[in-house]
Amino acid sequence: MDLAVESSEFVNRVWVQCENESCLKWRLLSPEAAARVERSEPWYCFMNADASYNSCSVSEEDFPAESRFLESGYKIVYSQLPLGSLVLVKLQNWPR
Ligand SMILES: [Zn+2]
Repeated sequence: MDLAVESSEFVNRVWVQCENESCLKWRLLSPEAAARVERSEPWYCFMNADASYNSCSVSEEDFPAESRFLESGYKIVYSQLPLGSLVLVKLQNWPR
């Protein structure tokens, strides 16, 4: 199994949360679908182009286990900061 290829299914894809207060599930959108999302407008499950996840009654899509990300070289950082905090990141070659 090629983990690099397998993990690419999550690259450039966007998780959006349904704003229905009794739902609040997260849906995974393709880059094309994410580009059509109006960020100032609420988003609901029925707006999902993916017919298998376009209803609040459908359970949330499985998020890959953290171990799979680690195997693929991703690093997950859990924030202790309050929601809305601005976080600056220093990468190996950026900023120069
Ligand atoms: Zn929903």
